[in-house]
Amino acid sequence: MNSLITLGGVTRSYRLGGGTLQVLKGIDLTIEEGEFVAIMGPSGSGKSTLMQILGLLDRPTSGRYHLLGRDVSRLSDDQGAILRSRTIGFIFQMFNLLSRTSALDNVALPMIYSGTANRRERALEVLTQVGLADRIHHRPNELSGGQQQRVAVARSLVNHPRIIFADEPTGNLASDQAEDILNQLKLLNRSGITVIMVTHEPEIAAHARRIIRIRDGRIVADERGQPEPAVAAAHPEFPLDLRHPKASLAELREFSLSALRALAANKARSALSMLGILIGVAAVIAMLAIGKGAQKSIEARLSSLGSNLLMLFPGAPSTRGIRGAIGDTSRLTLLDAKAIRSLSPQIADLYPEAEGNVQIVNGDKNAITEMQGVTSSYESIRNAKPAYGRFFTDREDLALARVVLLGTTVVRELFGAENPVDKTVKINHMNFKVIGILPAKGASGFSDQDDMIVVPIRTAMRRVLGTQYLHEMAIECASAEAIPYVIGDIRNFLRHRHRLPDFKEDDFTLRNNAEMQATLSETTRTMSMLLGVVAAISLIVGGVGIMNIMLVSVNERTREIGLRKAVGAARRAILAQFMIEAAVLSTAGGIAGIVLGVTVSMGLSTFAGWAAVVTPQSVLLAFLFSAGVGVIFGFWPARKASLLSPIEALRYE
Ligand code: ADP
Ligand code: MG
Repeated sequence: MNSLITLGGVTRSYRLGGGTLQVLKGIDLTIEEGEFVAIMGPSGSGKSTLMQILGLLDRPTSGRYHLLGRDVSRLSDDQGAILRSRTIGFIFQMFNLLSRTSALDNVALPMIYSGTANRRERALEVLTQVGLADRIHHRPNELSGGQQQRVAVARSLVNHPRIIFADEPTGNLASDQAEDILNQLKLLNRSGITVIMVTHEPEIAAHARRIIRIRDGRIVADERGQPEPAVAAAHPEFPLDLRHPKASLAELREFSLSALRALAANKARSALSMLGILIGVAAVIAMLAIGKGAQKSIEARLSSLGSNLLMLFPGAPSTRGIRGAIGDTSRLTLLDAKAIRSLSPQIADLYPEAEGNVQIVNGDKNAITEMQGVTSSYESIRNAKPAYGRFFTDREDLALARVVLLGTTVVRELFGAENPVDKTVKINHMNFKVIGILPAKGASGFSDQDDMIVVPIRTAMRRVLGTQYLHEMAIECASAEAIPYVIGDIRNFLRHRHRLPDFKEDDFTLRNNAEMQATLSETTRTMSMLLGVVAAISLIVGGVGIMNIMLVSVNERTREIGLRKAVGAARRAILAQFMIEAAVLSTAGGIAGIVLGVTVSMGLSTFAGWAAVVTPQSVLLAFLFSAGVGVIFGFWPARKASLLSPIEALRYE
């Protein structure tokens, strides 16, 4: 039968500075199943190094290592992890328990990596075995050193190991507690488990049945005490299946919980690193909501105008946009409007408009608002049948009647809930009778379309504004097909009337509503894209913040990573753990960001009167984006963690 452990000419060197430091200088060793071996030697002689090689935490630089008849000196990291988790238990001098984690969960940890079922029962069983049944919910900092080490003993046992390695297991314990741990190890050995213990204290070593002494990396003595026959326990036969256990829900749960624990342990830091994502997501949601709201109200307005509408403005197309800055160009008058109206049977209707800002007063309340002077055709062309009251008539217009229709915002500001119809208001110190309330149009982006009043155009021009010139003219064509002809007719008419020579540009601007609609949706698309880029940049900044924190976290928890690997975590498991942690961080930030974004959008639409529409798609988008940011930016730190070597990690102080 094969021996449990056979080493032949094993060396281990470390690269140090320029040269190499040979720590093990050719170790030949055979250990049989059921032995209780103490490895003794002065500090720095290579005991821990030897034990780490034996425990598959490290690989020899040269030489052969057979474990249970199988050559294991060239196993991959992950194969080593699986073999460890099935056959080997570790006990360390520093206990290496996960803080903030109960004794029960600490003991159950190796079973999560080995994919064992009934973890709770088994953990309870071994904790009872080491006499800690009444301490299962205590955390390491609530336990004495001896109790912590007993938890570690229980942890080393859960997966039914064949070998237990203990590196100075009593080094940090008072002598009575040390005695207790040694007795535990003896009991385990009697049950058939091979125990290999590293110590530099002769009294401790005296408990073993075989003492191997090393000095400067070589075995200098190998003494066997009285051979006490061990009771062989039934163990699964080698070869073991070294494939990964499937990723399990238990793993996911443990990782998520440990992520939450780690985040909760550093609340301020976690909150700050979430802030970037939070702001990014809130910005995405609010921007999309405002963009969408603006687009919707513009679309609604334009479609209520109908696509057969033409707008005529004074001034050349190239100078449009700088209203009022058009000194030497044409003017449009009411006479022009009249002439254009009868220009062609293809023109179905038309209204001229003159506008200006006025002060409007009701009692002690007053407001500045936009006054539009129009003709009665406005009502049908603009779909503006009053919600209350009536529109004015042509006769009132010709008579310069002082009648006014109010937009809903003006009503709210000046009258509150009171009905203004038939009341008298003052517009620029003149009395006007309110005859109706205009239908609400809603806000469009940054401007409130209901913050305006409508009066007859002649009243506006002669009584209030003192002008003869129009601001614009809206012309309704008989059909969409007629639009090009109407445009042609109006151009000819106006160029002729203004005596423009052929080489001169139009001194007026004609714009088609459909065209305007296209321009506007183009503009809003560009805007949304711009906003999207800004939001994406802030999310990336947030992601970098998370990556930063994750790197710090990986550094801080190097020991924990080493421990997890020692108890059987494969690379994939460590990678998953830290990615989940990053994702939890960014998703939590994302959710907070969604709440903030929705609140801001609703606040803007309620209090500032902006149109803001939060769509479920934008919420989903923001959520997925933030989770994605966590995964993408968490990958590098997580990979760094997963590639840590268990011994480097365990040595890390
Ligand atoms: P012991 O456990 O017997 O006290 P170790 O096996 O821990 O000794 O270490 C033996 C020697 O190897 C020590 O001099 C130590 O400094 C050195 N050593 C251990 N690990 C490393 C490492 N990763 N890199 C460089 N030197 C190391
Ligand atoms: Mg040591």
